[in-house]
Amino acid sequence: MTSSLITVSYLAAAILFILALGGLKDNQSARRGNLYGILGMVIAVIVTISAFVTQNYTILITVMLIGGVAGFVLSRRVKMTQMPELVAILHSLVGLAAVLIGFANFLDSSFNLTGVEKTIHEIEIFIGICIGALTFTGSVIAYGKLSGMIGGNPLTLPAKHWLNLSMFIAVIVVGVQFVGAQNHSDAFILLLVMTLIAMVFGMHMVAAIGGADMPVVISMLNSYSGWAAAATGFMLSNDLLIVTGALVGSSGAILSYIMCRAMNRSFISVIAGGFGTTSGSKSKVSAEVQGDVMEIDVAETGQLLNKAKQVVFIPGYGMAMAQAQHAVSEISKILLAKGVNVRFAIHPVAGRMPGHMNVLLAEAKVPYDIVFEMDEINNDFPDVDVSVVIGANDTVNPSAQEDEDSPIAGMPVLEVWKSKTTIVLKRGMAAGYAGVDNPLFVKDNTKMLFGDAKASLDLIIKAL
Ligand code: NDP
Repeated sequence: MTSSLITVSYLAAAILFILALGGLKDNQSARRGNLYGILGMVIAVIVTISAFVTQNYTILITVMLIGGVAGFVLSRRVKMTQMPELVAILHSLVGLAAVLIGFANFLDSSFNLTGVEKTIHEIEIFIGICIGALTFTGSVIAYGKLSGMIGGNPLTLPAKHWLNLSMFIAVIVVGVQFVGAQNHSDAFILLLVMTLIAMVFGMHMVAAIGGADMPVVISMLNSYSGWAAAATGFMLSNDLLIVTGALVGSSGAILSYIMCRAMNRSFISVIAGGFGTTSGSKSKVSAEVQGDVMEIDVAETGQLLNKAKQVVFIPGYGMAMAQAQHAVSEISKILLAKGVNVRFAIHPVAGRMPGHMNVLLAEAKVPYDIVFEMDEINNDFPDVDVSVVIGANDTVNPSAQEDEDSPIAGMPVLEVWKSKTTIVLKRGMAAGYAGVDNPLFVKDNTKMLFGDAKASLDLIIKAL
């Protein structure tokens, strides 16, 4: 394959990746965006294989088959509720790939070069392995937290900020020594030392972040995996990998910013483990929730919905767990047919991954024009007759506004308690992901419909 054909193909693939990202900006164009992305990746893989891999096709095809089959089986088996942890573990693989390619590159070529070229190449390897190592271990811990294998509580080691700072300084010192190392084996040992520090840093950084901050961690690791891929692109002198990595890295960074804004937190304080934790000298204890819980049954819920003129459904992680999206879609159709003004309110961090609720509602064919973001609908709750909270908890917790000592204080929430009646569907009184009690459940106008959300909604369909 000629170099000009490679350049043109890579350019086409890069443009398709940009169009893919553009397509993902809203639900309607997302399918088209995905197709652009698939096409770009097919071009990228074919050109890379035919242009750069000239021998060892047997090994290449074998590992592609192993990876392809594993990916295919995983994607067929994974449940929608397990998507967040799958995304986290896939990020870890990007990080691991950057580490392995970095070491292979170092052992292969680094010390054959001389002068500035050698220094630049070593810096590329050092940075690539460093980002890769912290992405790898950070993503593994994120996987553990999201899958419930590790508790969601933040790890609060004494002097944790100093620990982070000393690891950061140690990496820089080791980096300077690595670039100045006189022989290959010294440099190799320094590279190993830095990899270990970066791995501990990645683990500690994610372990120190509290439950409600996990959305930022996920988008941040997404961004890191992009930069790790870009660094790999530099090591391999592959322009398309640099462009693609930078696209993922920068879009992940923008997503982290959006998530921080949704939670009213500064990015730096989240990374430093400041939210959902008891950092600093003042230990915060949220107020205990007191009051009586009022229960409601399915028949009464049906009557309230039948009488209502305005109904808002607020889905949360419990809807995903119960796979209740089709049942709620069915109810919304019944109510719409009766002339009720039905809307859905989506909190930016509802569920366990960005856009989680939107994906589920789209799967259940809920029309896009009745699905509203938090900012678009939050002022309308006083006019709403019935708000139906389906397995949401942290995202509708009034203590974010009412209790300044709450771990989620300051996080914008959906103000469902302002509607005339709020019905909460959940199985019991358990707290949400952030582990914070919710005073919504004891408000005068709140009624609890206990049980699995799908089972309750199926009964409501019959009642309607
Ligand atoms: P929460 O995690 O706060 O609460 C979910 C609720 O669903 C639980 O209280 C649970 O109560 C209930 N539930 C579970 N299973 C069922 C079921 N089968 N039927 C009915 N109810 C059920 O959900 P939210 O969506 O409100 O908030 C998301 C939280 O997750 C936030 O803290 C957010 O920061 C965090 N997070 C978000 C990520 C993202 O990217 N969106 C990523 C990682 C974390 P019970 O057991 O009593 O039924």
